[in-house]
Amino acid sequence: MWGSSTRSSRIAAIGVTTVHGFTSPAGSISSRMSRLRHVNTNAIMRAFTTNGNNSTSTVDVDSSTSADITKNAKRIEKRKQKDKRQASAAKRSKFIGLAKAVDRGSFPTYQPGGSSGDIFVAKSGLPVDISSTGGGRLFTVLGIESSCDDTGAAVVRSDGVILGESLASQAHIHEEWGGIVPGLAKTAHEENIDRVVNDALQQAQITLEEIDAIGVTVGPGLEICLRVGCEKAIQLATEYDKPFVGIHHLEAHILMARIENPELLQFPFLALLTSGGHCQLLKCLGIGRYEIIGGTLDDSLGECYDKTARLLGLPVGGGGGPALEALAKEGNATLIPLTIPLHRRHDCDFSYAGLKTNIRRAAEGLAIDRNVTSVLDLSRKDKADLAASFQNTAIIHLEQRLERAMKMMEKEDISSLAVVGGVAANQELRSRLNAVCEHKNWNMVVPPPRLCTDQGAMASWAAIERLKIGSSDDPSNQTVYARYPFSSYPNIS
Ligand code: ADP
Ligand code: MG
Repeated sequence: MWGSSTRSSRIAAIGVTTVHGFTSPAGSISSRMSRLRHVNTNAIMRAFTTNGNNSTSTVDVDSSTSADITKNAKRIEKRKQKDKRQASAAKRSKFIGLAKAVDRGSFPTYQPGGSSGDIFVAKSGLPVDISSTGGGRLFTVLGIESSCDDTGAAVVRSDGVILGESLASQAHIHEEWGGIVPGLAKTAHEENIDRVVNDALQQAQITLEEIDAIGVTVGPGLEICLRVGCEKAIQLATEYDKPFVGIHHLEAHILMARIENPELLQFPFLALLTSGGHCQLLKCLGIGRYEIIGGTLDDSLGECYDKTARLLGLPVGGGGGPALEALAKEGNATLIPLTIPLHRRHDCDFSYAGLKTNIRRAAEGLAIDRNVTSVLDLSRKDKADLAASFQNTAIIHLEQRLERAMKMMEKEDISSLAVVGGVAANQELRSRLNAVCEHKNWNMVVPPPRLCTDQGAMASWAAIERLKIGSSDDPSNQTVYARYPFSSYPNIS
């Protein structure tokens, strides 16, 4: 705050320098003079007050002070609004690319180990003997998966042997529509669920009485589809009084890399998850404990494969990836110039929306060059070149982000990688990422191709992993989650 003498001298200084500084035309001088007079009068009034003279000028001084206060209050309010805007922008940017699986506080989180991440509770019990004997006996789990467009069931033994499995694909239904129609998917799940469960049991030559536990995918996924599998599993677990486990679909994908031999992929490890719904890099610290270190800003790689396959007129029911991969084998991967996404961005996030547009424009340009009416009329050779160039660019993007994540993980002594999710079935992707790992002396584990895409065994195996550490859920309390972010634990690393 100004002292009285300083204040008066400042007032004087304003008057003198401003008046002598005028060089503008007459009209403007007079208006500025009158403004100056007004400023000086107010200023002098304030000076009187400060000097203790509060008789005649009290009203003016009060009104001037209250105007100042209002101005200040407005300024403070404005600043508050600005701070609020900045805080919410910062919060948004923190979650960019992590939209589908990050704990932003707005969805229930997957938290099997409680708020600390490691206190597991067997809410519906454990298979007989494993709680008391420490897991000596082999046990069997029936798993059910219905998160999207495939109805899957499998009976898996706790040593990872798949005793029986059944999968009802909805490819023929969605092929007609060029994508998944949730209502049709739900109806197909309802029609298939009983048959699929019975087939898996029959193939395993086991009855429901003999099954030790039941696992079912409860999220994330299409809610109406998840519900079909979940209700069936709750009904069976209740009727046959079996331990029950609600499975996180992404964790199930990740854990499939351990089904053949958990010793070959021990926690902590890095996981690259690329499927139709997700594209993420995760630090995997233990069951239920995952830290997302990179995610897609827009589309997933699987979605990008599917859209590109559709653009080229390939079959897309059940995912366009396999058809596009097959066609790409015939093409030249460097013929069509495409931009590598996020080339200059130094983080582990992904973006495939730009590549999707890029390949469409390149295809349309080629159609004009070849003088054909649409992309669908291009020759097989041209389509193969487009497919190969797309796949090459998509994988270069994966390689770049992965290498950055590996560098980060090496600082924490992590040197194992799991490549999982539907797109991990792609042979070109598998061999290129394998080369990256060999070069860096990393251990890479990828499930067999048929276990990369959605199926019942993933629910069974994820349940086995949960049961082995003493964790199960209460079926009477179980619901499904379209969004089901991993919990973030403050002191996880
Ligand atoms: P979701 O994303 O519903 O969990 P999946 O995990 O089964 O489903 O992944 C399906 C995705 O994987 C689809 O987008 C499909 O095109 C893609 N995909 C499957 N096989 C391949 C392949 N060989 N090459 C590329 N993408 C593939
Ligand atoms: Mg999946």
